[in-house]
Amino acid sequence: MSDLTQFYKDVRNCQLCQLAQTRTNVVPGEGPDTAEIVFIGEAPGYHEDQQGRPFVGPAGQFLEELITSIGRKRDEVYICNVIKCRPPENRDPLPMEIEACRSWLDKQLELLAPKMIVTLGRYSMARYFEGQSISKIHGRGYKKGNVTYFPMYHPAAALHQQKLRQTISEDMLKIPALLADVEPTPTPAPENQSHQLSMF
Ligand code: URA
Repeated sequence: MSDLTQFYKDVRNCQLCQLAQTRTNVVPGEGPDTAEIVFIGEAPGYHEDQQGRPFVGPAGQFLEELITSIGRKRDEVYICNVIKCRPPENRDPLPMEIEACRSWLDKQLELLAPKMIVTLGRYSMARYFEGQSISKIHGRGYKKGNVTYFPMYHPAAALHQQKLRQTISEDMLKIPALLADVEPTPTPAPENQSHQLSMF
């Protein structure tokens, strides 16, 4: 069994926080284990919880459009979330839930060792850029070691705001050039990026 397959098995049995009581399915994430880009959203919503797959609702539809806009297919990138189980009524994740899930995401990124990590929304941004504001840092690449971190607005936020939709679409188009400048990396993603990162 590959390490990632074992990871999926382990995370599907997770009982580390209260969301284990209310979830229908764990949503570990999906994509090839060789993916260059990992997109990290916030948390599963209703559709994701029902299907056990990330970004399969309306926000996922927009995310797929964005991925297509840079000449990639959904199944060529890796998509996951900061927390792996749906908070009831889609409420914001609690700090203790994010903390409980931290080691799963760390392990996942260590196994994937991507070239680029795209954070979608403020919860995944906060994991790498503590204390920063998404309106200030979105749409730029920040390199740490061999990994480029690229913060973006969450696709769901853009669904009802035309201006944000344009911003997020424009930000996405910057990814290919950034990716082309990054060396292939076999090294694990660092554990904590909350300190200052050098700007790309
Ligand atoms: N929003 C997220 O952050 N993640 C999903 O999987 C779906 C919607």
